[in-house]
Amino acid sequence: MSNQKDTFYSGLQQNLDQLREQGLYKPERVLASRQGSEVKSEDGRTLINMCANNYLGLSGQEWVAQASIDATEKYGYGLSSVRFICGTQTVHKQLEQAISKFLGTEDTILYAAAFDANGGVFEPLFDENDAIISDALNHASIIDGIRLCKAARFRYAHNDMADLEKQLQDAAGKRHKIIVTDGVFSMDGTIAQLDKIVELADKYSALVMIDECHASGFMGKTGRGTHEHHHVIGKIDIITGTLGKALGGAMGGFTSGRKEVIEMLRQKSRPYLFSNTLAPSIAGASLAVLERLSASTELRDRLHENTAYFRKEIERIGFTIKPGTHPVVPVMLFDAPVAQKFAARMYELGVLLSGFFYPVVPMGQARVRVQLSAAHTREQLDTVLKAFEQAGHELGLLKK
Ligand SMILES: *Cc1c(COP(=O)(O)O)cnc(C)c1O
Repeated sequence: MSNQKDTFYSGLQQNLDQLREQGLYKPERVLASRQGSEVKSEDGRTLINMCANNYLGLSGQEWVAQASIDATEKYGYGLSSVRFICGTQTVHKQLEQAISKFLGTEDTILYAAAFDANGGVFEPLFDENDAIISDALNHASIIDGIRLCKAARFRYAHNDMADLEKQLQDAAGKRHKIIVTDGVFSMDGTIAQLDKIVELADKYSALVMIDECHASGFMGKTGRGTHEHHHVIGKIDIITGTLGKALGGAMGGFTSGRKEVIEMLRQKSRPYLFSNTLAPSIAGASLAVLERLSASTELRDRLHENTAYFRKEIERIGFTIKPGTHPVVPVMLFDAPVAQKFAARMYELGVLLSGFFYPVVPMGQARVRVQLSAAHTREQLDTVLKAFEQAGHELGLLKK
């Protein structure tokens, strides 16, 4: 019998070795500093960070850390409880109200992560009589959430409105239909066509849900998200999002929408009912962040200035990028080994960024992905652009 245990472990080792051989193994970079536009790596190097979801530059900020300390002092370290037993404090209710106000919804429910928000949103609201119509490139947590639900599944080709309409027609016999999409897709920085999606939803009497993890806090004129960007505030039924990216960067997630939806999720959503309450330090800091973002668009404006500058300059140097306006900027290198070499050379030149290649992105679409932050100074961006130019020439990617 011990033989079977042995093959379990040796099988795992073989699979791990295979991942390494295929170049699919994901090593972890160890930082020895706070998160920020500049970080220290374990080996003592200082690097300009171009690969965090730290869009508003809040992750390492003193005032955000202080807000979390203040909340810890007032509310303690944790609750040792789920929300419905004795895990709800005033700070959690205040944060839920603040998120609802920020997004223009009626009510909000907090989760330990957006992964949980997406994992727990479908099953309580939809059953085998209903249909979920999902973009083919939606986030893994949406895919998992849909799997946990008995509704019929329809998938439309990524960002393809003609195919979405066809799927809506195919789902015509179902009781309730919901269209689900990432507000922004993080691999390409593609912004969902919410104006058109809302139009189709109206035509076919479907609900709309968006995942705003790469949008909340900075998309739209006052940073409310993709629904503000596309002028459809009030027309989205369910919004999920994270507190772990632009809105402070610690962790935590939420689902926001009509009060009946949120009330039912509080009764039935499994990651909410059977998992510990969000730490009060995070709730307090997130509340301070939302207050700051509601009072001023300064950080959001700086992020978009940085994005416009970087997009213009990187093209001027001669690189190809995916066109767009989002702070996710895919710099296309097309070839997987080239993308790997490029990212490694950039690291030597003091720039932290990530390379992506098949199967994470389609074959022949290898790239390095840059993510801008409000915390980047113009000087840092110029240093990064110089490094791009140097590495580009060294690897023969740019015309002389
Ligand atoms: C990051 C991300 C999530 C998960 O967010 P967490 O709060 O880290 O669990 C979910 N959906 C999308 C689109 C994301 O980008």
